Amino acid sequence: MWNWIRDIEDAITPLLQRSFGVRCVHCRQQMAENRLSLCQDCYIELPQVIRAIRLESPYLKGAWCMGTYRSPMGSLIRKGKYASQQGMFIQLAEMLAGAALDLPAFDAVISVPLPEQRMRTRGFNQSALLAQHVASMLDLPHHQILFRVDNAEQAAKSLVDRGVMLTGRFEVRPHFEKGFSPPKILLVDDVFTTGATAESCALELLNLGVQEVWVLALVSGK
Ligand SMILES: [Zn+2]
Repeated sequence: MWNWIRDIEDAITPLLQRSFGVRCVHCRQQMAENRLSLCQDCYIELPQVIRAIRLESPYLKGAWCMGTYRSPMGSLIRKGKYASQQGMFIQLAEMLAGAALDLPAFDAVISVPLPEQRMRTRGFNQSALLAQHVASMLDLPHHQILFRVDNAEQAAKSLVDRGVMLTGRFEVRPHFEKGFSPPKILLVDDVFTTGATAESCALELLNLGVQEVWVLALVSGK
């Protein structure tokens, strides 16, 4: 329904940029040239390597990310999501895949499914896109094994509620239910906040017989 607005936006943006210059998507300063919608100062802040996220979880063995949500990388994710820019995530996926070469060995890569409504409005699942690139770089299979059974945003719930929350948010697609249990799985997502989403996914995978679930995200934090 809103495609015509995007068409107009796409048509006038280059004209506005020629007239008024472009602003960095992170620090908002005007810039003559840009790479990935970032000024030179913000671009060089983009991380090249992954680091471990400190976490205590009965379901997740460990987690890594590249940067923080408030960093230039976080701004690129927000722009990619809210402006539905698949191209932005392809570039971020290439960065994540390159950094993933430092990871230990895994048996398969899994992505986090989007709520159906969001899939319809955005047109792509950024988690699946990131997972595809990481799996290809690590020469591993990528499985879209999970689906959402609701789209409730429950990430902010307290730890006490988590036992209840963890049941029923994701389910395994029926054709994966029998015989799918690679020992060590890497779950890939764009943002790792409280870990509640990753834990919900991990719970379903562990119930299948998977032994270890690890997480790789572009950024951590809120
Ligand atoms: Zn900047």
